[in-house]
Amino acid sequence: MPPLEREELDEVYALPFMRNYHPIYEKDGGVPAIEEVKFSITHNRGCFGGCNFCALAFHQGRNVRSRSIESVVNEAKIISEMPDFKGYIHDIGGPTANFRKPACTRQLTHGVCPDRKCLTPKPCPNLDVDHSEYIELLSAVEQLPKIKKVFIRSGIRYDYMLCDKDDSFIKKLVRDHVSGQLKVAPEHCSDAVLSLMGKPNIDVYDRFKEKYFTLSSSFGLKQFLVPYLMSSHPGSTLKDAVALALYLNKTGTAPEQVQDFYPTPGTASTVMFYTGINPLTGKKVYVADNYHEKQMQRALLQYKRPDNADLVREALIKCGRSDLIGYGADCLIKPKKNAQPCPAPLSVTQKEKSRKQRRTASKTGAIKQPQRQFTRPKKKK
Ligand code: SF4
Repeated sequence: MPPLEREELDEVYALPFMRNYHPIYEKDGGVPAIEEVKFSITHNRGCFGGCNFCALAFHQGRNVRSRSIESVVNEAKIISEMPDFKGYIHDIGGPTANFRKPACTRQLTHGVCPDRKCLTPKPCPNLDVDHSEYIELLSAVEQLPKIKKVFIRSGIRYDYMLCDKDDSFIKKLVRDHVSGQLKVAPEHCSDAVLSLMGKPNIDVYDRFKEKYFTLSSSFGLKQFLVPYLMSSHPGSTLKDAVALALYLNKTGTAPEQVQDFYPTPGTASTVMFYTGINPLTGKKVYVADNYHEKQMQRALLQYKRPDNADLVREALIKCGRSDLIGYGADCLIKPKKNAQPCPAPLSVTQKEKSRKQRRTASKTGAIKQPQRQFTRPKKKK
């Protein structure tokens, strides 16, 4: 089905929505999540971002379409007349806030390219980068009489934004539309993992971060950047998770929330998770499908939390990185009180010997094998 065009989208959004949850939930105290969306506006549909773990393009397509400025302004006027409106529009966004039109003009006649992505591994030379209409839209809403502030809380594609030769949008975003902290999604720091995720390399995030903080201080604003991160995406080994923990340590970042990879229907990442093969290249991919390893990878992303200490210590020893347990600036965790010195990493011969001993013990029943909680189905012959 082709995407709804602008006029059709405007018609849909002009319908008399109640802008509230169904009264049936009143007896249960309402739906708290309504607070987040009640004063928010969706201005677009679709996404050409192409993250391999995201199912949105399968719901809404890679073809981005957006509502007219008039349609969005009309909705903002309705919101501003609501009795509990305090003057703040929480979000004018969508799947990706800063997309308002198709990725390129070629798409209009040839459709989206089936064999390449628009933004990764490098932005496509045909990409049409333009934030002018989004700026116009935000400014039009800001000028309404009862609006004090308009925030952008939906995800921003910072790689797309950095492709814009005109800095007007990033300046306006930083100056006018951040409510103290901007959430962005670098997801990881290992370029190998990022490539399997369909995300840009970490140096793109680093460039954006630098620009964001430079602009914030030039406007006299103390604002934060909150990175969304994901543990145990296919391709991410325990060593990659340690590298991410070290990156967080180096950059002074302590994420409050992290997401562990979970397979969602229809995505390339889900195929990798279940088959151990990247469907885009046919190459084998490492998959952390063992629940305990997933726990360790996740704990490393929040290595400062006391309840993660045991998992982090175990992961570091397993990776041969017991040098990161200690009191130095690079150390991720302190030694356990009354702990014995960490054993040195085993040599290959020692590892083989220990494996043999474990195998024999397991056969004789001396060791009970732990139950695997994340197992991939066996391939049919
Ligand atoms: S030509 Fe480039 S920008 Fe256009 S659809 Fe193809 S990959 Fe995307």
